Amino acid sequence: NKVVYSNFIQDIIDEDMKSGRFEGAVHTRFPPEPNGYLHIGHAKSICLNFGIAAQNKGLCNLRFDDTNPSKEEDEYVESIKNDVKWLGFDWDDRLYYASDYFDQLYEYAVQLIKMGKAYVCDLSADQIREYRGTLTEPGKESPYRNRSVEENLDLFERMKNGEFEEGSRVLRAKIDMASPNLNMRDPVLYRIMKVRHHRTGDKWCIYPMYDFAHPLSDSIENITHSICTLEFEDHRPLYNWILETLDVKCKSRQVEFARLNLTYTVMSKRKLLQLVKEGHVSGWDDPRMPTISGLRRRGYTPESIREFCARIGVAKSNSTVDIALLEHCIREELNLKATRVMAVLRPLKVVIDNYEEGRVEEFEVPNNPEDPNAGTRKVPFSRVIYIEQDDFCENPPKKYFRLAPGQEVRLKGAYIIKCESVVKDEKTGEIIEVHCSYDPDSRGGSSSDGRKVKGTIHWVSAQHAFEAEVRLYDYLFTDPNPGADENVDFLEQLNPKSLEVLKNCKMEPGLKDAKPGDMFQFLRLGYFCVDSVDSKPGAPVFNRTVTLKDTWAK
Ligand code: ATP
Ligand code: MG
Ligand code: MG
Repeated sequence: NKVVYSNFIQDIIDEDMKSGRFEGAVHTRFPPEPNGYLHIGHAKSICLNFGIAAQNKGLCNLRFDDTNPSKEEDEYVESIKNDVKWLGFDWDDRLYYASDYFDQLYEYAVQLIKMGKAYVCDLSADQIREYRGTLTEPGKESPYRNRSVEENLDLFERMKNGEFEEGSRVLRAKIDMASPNLNMRDPVLYRIMKVRHHRTGDKWCIYPMYDFAHPLSDSIENITHSICTLEFEDHRPLYNWILETLDVKCKSRQVEFARLNLTYTVMSKRKLLQLVKEGHVSGWDDPRMPTISGLRRRGYTPESIREFCARIGVAKSNSTVDIALLEHCIREELNLKATRVMAVLRPLKVVIDNYEEGRVEEFEVPNNPEDPNAGTRKVPFSRVIYIEQDDFCENPPKKYFRLAPGQEVRLKGAYIIKCESVVKDEKTGEIIEVHCSYDPDSRGGSSSDGRKVKGTIHWVSAQHAFEAEVRLYDYLFTDPNPGADENVDFLEQLNPKSLEVLKNCKMEPGLKDAKPGDMFQFLRLGYFCVDSVDSKPGAPVFNRTVTLKDTWAK
């Protein structure tokens, strides 16, 4: 599925290429901060950055934006590389870390000081905020704003050397405390953080702010178009100020697009981390998580995620996408690809009394009616089978076409059976066995006398079945916009029924050898995949990827 982005970003690129603003080819980057696992929102950014580069015969870098050591870890770096590759994108040899530029960034800061465009400020964080003013009120200049270049150079070097306490001093750009844009009111460029960095260790105790590091990292890498999300729109004047004030070779251009929001989903890394840390989910790759690793474990394919990203497109204003569209994308793919099998999740024993004891027949059934090349397989049938508890009703309502006393139903691909009697548990009254007769002339499922049997149900031969665990997933939240209401804790909106574990499901025997990642359609139930974490050879655990019912309104 080749994705062509014709959108406002491509228009901007066309304009820049025509005007000769940049020397070389289009060059983008995907710049994750390694402070968590990638989620479906990042997938949108990945598809966009790599997609835009590819369709303009350009390049896309992977850059770790690792300038805040307090939250960053190598585990995240590895998971991010893995997820980007899995999604189908390749940065070749263009893997970078903003932390590789710490020396250069320091030199740039020194340059700003020498130009009289940056100063060391001793105000506390609270004071800086207070002095900044508001949208309706101009800011107030810091009393340290007019320090001499020499004093600033000396103090900044001593900040670097670790002579001062965290929070006691920062380096700020000297721009305009009366600017209508708050980001231009002498923004902080460097802060003291006596924190070990996952790559540079203890070499640094001052770290650059995003607004300083990002434009310069872009420029160092010759990024032409720095695509980011809308919340950075009013940082753009600062982005440009830095690249215009300093003598840099590439004046990268920042372009903003709307971030992805999904119904029933939280996408903030802070909240996702909280879900993991507090054990509300089993980990970053819990199949209910909107992370790439969670979606993968759930049974989503890279193709389905790329297709989703292509369908949502890119826009300049924020909106929320219906999660049903994401489900639609995987359903559509699996409908074409997934092998159909029979599994009984909540088994009810059915004895076919007129079927000879010890007799076994095999029925040949198609693997996928949507795919003529998918072939067939043999499914064993015998006197005792399992059907779903739901497919039997002792006192059926009108138009109940499944199994009921005196009523016939077709066993998929096998015979028509009729319910003759039931056996109940003496104590609980619960039906524990259904006794049926079968019509020997209905082999394959059609009656010889032309009588109509409306219902067809799935089944598994008891003596051939093996038991497996199946996990049914639902949305992690009950609210369509979890966390949207500031007065409600998003954890209170967790769906208590987001995971249902069924331990004694009866599976068609061929499924025993299913391998992690294999995908199936369980007839009438949904699409399922073999869990990649908890499955063992010969003992697969199945995750429901998505139900069969498509709620996406086209
Ligand atoms: P958070 O705010 O949850 O920490 P982030 O935006 O800081 O997320 P980064 O790792 O910095 O996370 O994101 C890397 C890239 O992915 C950035 O360019 C960012 O704009 C983009 N991105 C992050 N979330 C989304 C989203 N929901 N939709 C589209 N792009 C996103
Ligand atoms: Mg962040
Ligand atoms: Mg970020």
